Amino acid sequence: MADSAATQVYKRLRRMILTGEIPAEQQLIETALAAQLKVSRTPIREALSLLKRDRLVIPVQTGGVITRDVVSELKDLLGVRKALETYAVKQAIDLITPGQVAELEYLCNESAIWTSEDVEPRAQHNSEFHQLLVAAARNQRLYQTWHECRTYFLIAQESYADQFEQFFDQHREILEAVKAKDKATAERLVNEHLDQSFAAFIDARATSRRPDFMKS
Ligand SMILES: [Zn+2]
Repeated sequence: MADSAATQVYKRLRRMILTGEIPAEQQLIETALAAQLKVSRTPIREALSLLKRDRLVIPVQTGGVITRDVVSELKDLLGVRKALETYAVKQAIDLITPGQVAELEYLCNESAIWTSEDVEPRAQHNSEFHQLLVAAARNQRLYQTWHECRTYFLIAQESYADQFEQFFDQHREILEAVKAKDKATAERLVNEHLDQSFAAFIDARATSRRPDFMKS
């Protein structure tokens, strides 16, 4: 089913905020967006409320919204995520079941089916690998805490989905370290993988440009 007008506007603005086409602390005005994107104000309003839910924009007292500093948000979350996932992978090495190893294998093999056009399924797929790994640590509190950071990373990934091949290769290396029960290597690989994902996000932002409605 095709996306509704509100969903299309939401996805477009989401991408623009994440790529930096719309900079941090930029006020978004319904009428200006409606004119530029050639839609009525209703889908714009719905899209802005979804962006609020995603913590990509913040309501301001005058009634509008401003964009959040997503780089700073992601940088903070990256530190949390590295701490959680390096702990998780070491726990998982002790606790992972053969069934979970098979699931991770399946995910690694499956990553080849998508092209660079399949941005959302690829981002979802990337996230599933990490989710399985965290679940394999069998710590409900850890899993819940990790899950709170997940959405932000999931949507941020869409801005650099064209570089996923290298990240999928790294998943395979992490899985091999888990199977070999090599905690030091697994920890190092997870740290490097998350650092490089963040660097790819920053690079993707460096190549973006401002849309017309931001120029006036
Ligand atoms: Zn990954």
